[in-house]
Amino acid sequence: MRLDYFLAHTTSWSRKEAKRFIAKGKIRVNGDVVTKPNASVTEDCKVESHGEVILWRKEKYFALYKPADYVSALEDSESPVLIDLIEPEERKNLKIVGRLDKDTTGLIFLTTDGQWLHRITSPKHDCYKTYRVYCADPISEANCKSLETGVMLNGEDLPTSPAKVERVSDTEILLSIKEGKYHQVKRMLAAVGNRVEKLHREAISDVNLDGLQEGQYRILTEDEIFQF
Ligand code: URA
Repeated sequence: MRLDYFLAHTTSWSRKEAKRFIAKGKIRVNGDVVTKPNASVTEDCKVESHGEVILWRKEKYFALYKPADYVSALEDSESPVLIDLIEPEERKNLKIVGRLDKDTTGLIFLTTDGQWLHRITSPKHDCYKTYRVYCADPISEANCKSLETGVMLNGEDLPTSPAKVERVSDTEILLSIKEGKYHQVKRMLAAVGNRVEKLHREAISDVNLDGLQEGQYRILTEDEIFQF
């Protein structure tokens, strides 16, 4: 593969940034400085930047800013799907980590790594997802307390697990939950007599949308991947 491709797929750099670093002589391959972005490298080459070895990663890990109207699926007969937002050569074996409703916006991960996916979606792993929730009606402190301690969702036998709630205004809260039941946030708000008007996922654990515009994605950093 080309050196700029290798770097754009193993670091947070775009292809353009990778080309700039290469041209500046910042990259070594098997000990030698290489200044041509189209230099050929393999998965086994020792690629170094600023003295640090960059390892080729077999698995892919992306953070995507989901726009409204996209379905969290790989295909759909009627609506655009998240995979459409990923470059075609990156799509192979990608799975979506959990799902967001069609009208929900915000952070969603895609990966080829099934075990990693499980650690993020399983409630056993305490991975909190934070939602900005715009409610139709004012939300009281008592409602926030109920959401925090756990509410009974329609059709479930057990209450929701403890959540974290921050009241931003009369009708807006930040809600962090580690479960991902079907329409969970909307059903939690319904359980306290309210209705969600707009829903946006701001963060998964401490990974957020900084630097991404709607519809854009980036490769997760090594630290972000290994925290899960
Ligand atoms: N909870 C919901 O109700 N919808 C989402 O998209 C995500 C969480």
